[in-house]
Amino acid sequence: MKTDANRCKTCAHRERAAIDLALARGVSVRALATRYDLTVHSLYRHSGNHLPAQLRAKLLSAAPDLGSVDLDALRETESQSLLAHLVAIRGRLLGSLDVAEEHGDGGMLARIASQLHENLSLTGRLVGSLSTGSTTITNNVLLTAPAYITMRVELVRALKPYPEAAQAVASVLHTIEHDAAGSITAKAPIGAAA
Ligand SMILES: [Zn+2]
Repeated sequence: MKTDANRCKTCAHRERAAIDLALARGVSVRALATRYDLTVHSLYRHSGNHLPAQLRAKLLSAAPDLGSVDLDALRETESQSLLAHLVAIRGRLLGSLDVAEEHGDGGMLARIASQLHENLSLTGRLVGSLSTGSTTITNNVLLTAPAYITMRVELVRALKPYPEAAQAVASVLHTIEHDAAGSITAKAPIGAAA
């Protein structure tokens, strides 16, 4: 007698790892069903029975933490630490945006985009309220511009037919965004106004 997992089309799928990661990240089963030629039923069943919370958590923590910042190293004002938080969250949102785009999940794309706008609006207000005009913070304003997000989404979309190019560009973007998050945690000279 075959085990439950053996009968599960999702478990048996050769892209199971990608499917599990997408499920853990909250991509809708409908989008995944289309993308991986599985039934919604199979994905629901798999998600409910073969993807325990522990595995989900492991998948999420194993995923590249694009915008991680060393908050312990922060010795800046509260505003700057809040800013670093926002930039870190944005790094993760941008990562999720790529996942949503890659899997063609329009609902998730819209949700992430709205969270990004919220994040940008908060960051913008915060940056505007910061009195210290250090270079690092000024540089990061570039990445907070809504135009940057629009450009990023369009770029990833345009490169979709060219996976290798898309991967190379995504890697560059991630590096820039990661550096942006990191530079805020680096000691910004207080009072060294531009
Ligand atoms: Zn399964």
